[in-house]
Amino acid sequence: MQFRSTQSNKALVSFKDAVLRCLPQEGGLYVPASVMDLRQFFLYMDVDTGYPELVSTVAPPLLQGELNPFSASRVAESAFAFEPEILQLDERFSLLTLYNGPTGVFKDFGIAFLAAVMEELLKNNRRGMVLSAARGDTGVSIAHAFYQRQNMVSCLLYPSGPIRGLDPRTFVSNGGNIIPIQIRGTFDDCQRLVIEAIKDQPFAERYSISTANALNPGRLLPQAFYYLYAFIKLKQQLKGDLLFSVPCGNFGNFIAGLYAWKFGMPVRGFIAAMNANNAFGDFLTGAAFKPKPLISTISPELDVSVPSNYERFLSFYEEAPAVMRNMVFPEAIDDRLTREAMDKVWKQYGVLLDPHGAVAFAAAERMMASHDWCDGNAHIVVLATGHPAREAESVAKATGQLLAIPPRLAVLRKKSDPIALIKPHLDALEGAIASCI
Ligand SMILES: *Cc1c(COP(=O)(O)O)cnc(C)c1O
Repeated sequence: MQFRSTQSNKALVSFKDAVLRCLPQEGGLYVPASVMDLRQFFLYMDVDTGYPELVSTVAPPLLQGELNPFSASRVAESAFAFEPEILQLDERFSLLTLYNGPTGVFKDFGIAFLAAVMEELLKNNRRGMVLSAARGDTGVSIAHAFYQRQNMVSCLLYPSGPIRGLDPRTFVSNGGNIIPIQIRGTFDDCQRLVIEAIKDQPFAERYSISTANALNPGRLLPQAFYYLYAFIKLKQQLKGDLLFSVPCGNFGNFIAGLYAWKFGMPVRGFIAAMNANNAFGDFLTGAAFKPKPLISTISPELDVSVPSNYERFLSFYEEAPAVMRNMVFPEAIDDRLTREAMDKVWKQYGVLLDPHGAVAFAAAERMMASHDWCDGNAHIVVLATGHPAREAESVAKATGQLLAIPPRLAVLRKKSDPIALIKPHLDALEGAIASCI
């Protein structure tokens, strides 16, 4: 599979180049340049297939010779010590739980694959540096995935404020390959620096800079694999249409679902489950996109005003607007309905959902109730993107259930110090990097 820029379809690059360069020279973001039909590889896959096995079967044909089956197994085995799980609630709904990774959110899946595949792609190359803006627990997820990867250092740019969840034993100063740097500034400053560094050719080339932020297509593409996984687990029981309900913030997860459809997964549609920040829904159904001011909700990861994948959507819609509109169903769920959904899923099925998963569940229920063709026919897979213990307070308020925090999630609260504290300028960043590697 080759990649092109969202802003031009002239220059095509390989997967390796897209992953290592991250940003097209002509501007825009990388997106797959062609439709790949992978049906022959997953359609008849055994229901007992494990996740690493699925990934290592599908990745080689997808990446057309850039990853041979032997390398693909090594990548999948080393990336996935954790797996998604499918939990069938009843005839109508299943949950796809994606919170079994080190930080308890689905982002662990894309990041883990990216780190493992980069190590494979960089074999026999000089050292590469992965420079990423870090917010919340994404920095921890990146540190986990890149720790001890050969030929790689991972530099994390944190905004002002406490840095949590990192293990100082993994830092370069202690013989590891993780470099946490704090920027005197905001998360946006960190993101801007990452982009500036990638675009500054001498700097980028000297250190072979790429990123583990979502602009890297090597993080987005592998998120399609767990949609295929849900499909093979459920296909024997499906009597009618299959849909997915996805809690959407920056819409990366949602785009990955659309990729799975492009790879040939038989699916009727995708529910874009949003909270009160639902301006993007109008765009999805054909109106112009008018961003609205941000509203704070109990599903904070969905509090996004302009999704960072907006450009990727535009380019998707250019290709087949009518098809897209028939497959994409936006729903907006407020905090009250989110709490009700948490309570209902607990009482009815004995399962605890975090608020993000609850938004997706409530959206799925509304879809079922408001579309006649769904009734008694459709099966909706709800993506449970976050571990309920991460939002223990909201969960307790809605359900009365007190959750034990698993040890791997408890350590996410521990504070640590950065290796350097710098102004939000590229020179300062270059100096800090030069002084520690
Ligand atoms: C990041 C996140 C989301 C939103 O995912 P996007 O790809 O940005 O749409 C949903 N749920 C949880 C728990 C998250 O951490």
